[in-house]
Amino acid sequence: MSAVDHIGIAVRSLAERLALYEALGLEVGGEEMVESEKVRVAFLPVSGTRIELLEPTGPDSPIASFIAKRGEGIHHICLRVDDIHAAMADLKAKGLQLLSEEPRLGAHGSQVCFIHPRSAGGVLIELLQPRR
Ligand code: ZN
Repeated sequence: MSAVDHIGIAVRSLAERLALYEALGLEVGGEEMVESEKVRVAFLPVSGTRIELLEPTGPDSPIASFIAKRGEGIHHICLRVDDIHAAMADLKAKGLQLLSEEPRLGAHGSQVCFIHPRSAGGVLIELLQPRR
């Protein structure tokens, strides 16, 4: 793990919540649809890391079910890795449960996977290998 890449926060509406982060002095560095996760995301860079706001694109989005169950709030933390396949193999060998067998396509052409919260003390941890 080389850095905290970002902290993911589930929001009902990007337009509504962006005002709060802009009031804090942050600016949107980019917005993108992530089809694989059924979310629209906005990244706000802050001191070497980023805040990722996640808005569901429909009622079948995992973020929509998260908000229905727990309300808006912190959804996951994301750690950056150099080699996601090696990281996944290593974690599996250590007995951790991953949410997918293969990395999935994340924002900005990155490859991502998630560690099951059951294996991580209730925290959803995302691993991200940036696009080379
Ligand atoms: Zn994320």
